[in-house]
Amino acid sequence: MENRKVLVTGGNRGIGRGIAEGFLKNGNQVLATCRDASKFPYKNDKLTIAELDISDSKSIDNFKKIVEDFQPEILINNAGITKDNIFLRMSEVEWLDVINTNLNGTFRVTKLVARGMLKQKWGRIVNISSISGMMGNVGQANYSASKSGVDAFTRSLAKELGSRNITVNSVAPGFISTDMTENFISEDITKKIPLGRIGDIEDVVSLVLFVSSEDANYITGQTLVVDGGLFMK
Ligand code: NDP
Repeated sequence: MENRKVLVTGGNRGIGRGIAEGFLKNGNQVLATCRDASKFPYKNDKLTIAELDISDSKSIDNFKKIVEDFQPEILINNAGITKDNIFLRMSEVEWLDVINTNLNGTFRVTKLVARGMLKQKWGRIVNISSISGMMGNVGQANYSASKSGVDAFTRSLAKELGSRNITVNSVAPGFISTDMTENFISEDITKKIPLGRIGDIEDVVSLVLFVSSEDANYITGQTLVVDGGLFMK
């Protein structure tokens, strides 16, 4: 896969940065978004940077023209947040912020991109969900609901867009070592993972690159898990 045009949300750090750099390494053009463009940490000839807050409709409106000019063929909905709290202490603000970013944000960005993909009669949409959305997690009622919603969104969209050669899949990581997980990765969690280790960003990147490639032509509407075996159905 090379010379595709790829939009990655939250491409400045963590898993999103790994994905953006993975596509760049393979010769693709990447439009990476972040909330503060002045702090974007890396450069590449084939990289364009744009400011975007997926939780904010106004920011989405400002981003519209950039998407129209770039015409993404591959969309990676990666940006996401956690605001963990046990349910009885979880405030409505914590609930709404996570749903508004992870679920509504995925809707908003996909809406900007889907029409162009329909015209091109080719597209790949990869939504980064989480095994929390499938198995639940203490303190993550908001996050689990948002990611489960992303998986359901994935399946419906796959049915709507399949006839135009657009595949829509979720990639659901387990515990991956990033800023998001630095405070709660423990030996106890590691012991529960059959492969015996926390995941690296590269473990997610290789699956995302595969499902975005021509080799994954016949895969759509799926939630593909990359978690070292932590969650088995
Ligand atoms: P990080 O916290 O390291 O990075 C999150 C990224 O999302 C940052 O680029 C951040 O930008 C961006 N972001 C957050 N909120 C917004 C917003 N409102 N608008 C635009 N961008 C935003 O997280 P990870 O890299 O670990 O996570 C990436 C994705 O993977 C998320 O969707 C997460 O839920 C999912 N995931 C992660 C797992 C893990 O173990 N790490 C496990 C399962 C799923 P900024 O720098 O501006 O804050």
